[in-house]
Amino acid sequence: MSDIKLAEAPPGIQGSGFFATSLDKAIGLARANSLWPLPFATSCCGIEFMATMAATYDAGRFGMERNSFSPRQADMLMVMGTIAKKMGPVLRQVYSQMAEPRWVIAVGACASSGGIFDTYSVLQGIDEIIPVDVYVPGCPPRPEAILDGVMRLQEIVKDEPLNRRQTPEYKALLEKYGFN
Ligand code: SF4
Repeated sequence: MSDIKLAEAPPGIQGSGFFATSLDKAIGLARANSLWPLPFATSCCGIEFMATMAATYDAGRFGMERNSFSPRQADMLMVMGTIAKKMGPVLRQVYSQMAEPRWVIAVGACASSGGIFDTYSVLQGIDEIIPVDVYVPGCPPRPEAILDGVMRLQEIVKDEPLNRRQTPEYKALLEKYGFN
């Protein structure tokens, strides 16, 4: 008989070799562990994203190794770098071409707040033009910080109710940003 003690089973799990849960939770888990990123990289932070996807940090462990350069086949928009105001309409178009459900991570100081570029030509954060789910601090953030941001998003995705996208609150959020 082994001395190893099994961890306490989380709520909803019964017996060994199987678990029972609600459909919402099962779909949330599947979504959270199969996010398809669309990297929208304009400058230095994009280099850290390359390191994040490479062998040492191995983002594939999180089920996100499949990068998509088409908004139609992506559900996690990762915005990295300085976003000039002239680039704003392009970013909005990319976001609007993504199907629901979709999530956005602002990676690094520039995408989150304009960073060191406090100037007339640079967006002072992409949340001026599209909704953001997670902000990753740093200039640039190291790959560990980017992965931490992804894990925070996974927590959000895992617990998101299936009908969130149909709620008046979500529709109001999109409307606020001029999407419908
Ligand atoms: Fe470059 Fe720093 Fe801006 Fe990232 S946050 S794009 S590293 S200036």
